[in-house]
Amino acid sequence: MQPIIHSKLPNVGTTIFTVMSQLAVEHGAVNLGQGFPDFPMSDELTSLVDKAMKDGFNQYVHMNGLPALREALAAKATELYHTPINPETNITVTPGGTYAIYTALTTALQPGDEVIVFEPAYDSYIPNIEINGAKAVRISLQYPNYNIPWQEVRASVNERTRMIMINTPHNPTGAVLSEADMIELASIVTGTKIIILSDEVYEHLIFDGIAHQSILRYPELFERSFVCYSFGKTYHCTGWKLGYCIAPESFMKEFRKVHQFNCFTCDTPKQVALSQYLTNKTAYLTLGSFVEQKRNYFRALMADTPFTCIPSHGSYFECYSYAGFSNEADKDLAIRLTKECGIATIPVSAFYQNGEDNKVLRFCFAKKEETLEKAVASLKKNI
Ligand code: PMP
Ligand code: GLN
Repeated sequence: MQPIIHSKLPNVGTTIFTVMSQLAVEHGAVNLGQGFPDFPMSDELTSLVDKAMKDGFNQYVHMNGLPALREALAAKATELYHTPINPETNITVTPGGTYAIYTALTTALQPGDEVIVFEPAYDSYIPNIEINGAKAVRISLQYPNYNIPWQEVRASVNERTRMIMINTPHNPTGAVLSEADMIELASIVTGTKIIILSDEVYEHLIFDGIAHQSILRYPELFERSFVCYSFGKTYHCTGWKLGYCIAPESFMKEFRKVHQFNCFTCDTPKQVALSQYLTNKTAYLTLGSFVEQKRNYFRALMADTPFTCIPSHGSYFECYSYAGFSNEADKDLAIRLTKECGIATIPVSAFYQNGEDNKVLRFCFAKKEETLEKAVASLKKNI
């Protein structure tokens, strides 16, 4: 008889991104659901990978990440956010941002710890907390601006609170944290044992002249933080699954203990290529305006539909309310639009454990203009 596995994640099914992408393929729909670009990434960067492979960089690199890449990342972070980052002790390269988040949670959490998570939340956060035996304390961002209700955060903190997770720019809403938010956060955690996990995978995808509020700007917050990044988002290569974590030395020491027995080391030729490409500051400093133009283009197209825009200030996404013309559950509408209108989106209720449904869909605008035109034209025709 086959042995039974007792599920560590009994309430988890297949992620909404996979479900909607699959449905889009089945129905030939334009996929504005899962967050990935359909335009090509930099030729220069792919050529550097090709060259690195031909030059023989095909064996294991150092488990913490290629030294030259860590040096380039440390120099970049120090210059952008004015907190000295040491490539030897503060950075580890990981196979993606999701892995960096999982590793940070596994490093920091003990069974019974509480973690404050804001919803809507990126889908991996809560399962990653629970698989470590910790408890997610969910707090809803204030609809429709998706601000953090700091009073509620203050009221939720107790002696079991071990971590607060933040994400700016935010997936799925495109909301961004302000300096005032960071000051609130500092006033709550100062003098406590609370660790911060800051998911900053969209650090460069920020619009409207807003400065990214990295934890790295705030030394008193950084000393208690894991900060997670993804090259996939920065360089439009989500399939590369490469990212990194920045943390203070004592945190990083423990993080590396978990990392070394999980993946140990990441893709060598891509690290070589990225270490060289990072010297091109313009490439990452112009990303925001490049993606902002796509947001603007998409927003202008959507203005001609009955959807109401909930403005995004960063990320690959913008959310739209349909409460003005339909009372349908967001999951039902997302499925119907995929099947009947040829456009796949993500229902925002999927980012809430209790399925809170504000009648909002998330659209990924990181697409070619013709893709966005096709998607909105088919929406207008059928809605
Ligand atoms: N956090 C957020 C908020 C994201 O949107 C993503 C991208 N899917 C990630 C983390 C993970 O990035 P990666 O694909 O590098 O694992
Ligand atoms: N980050 C992407 C999104 O939010 C996709 C991630 C995934 O498929 N797990 O759409």
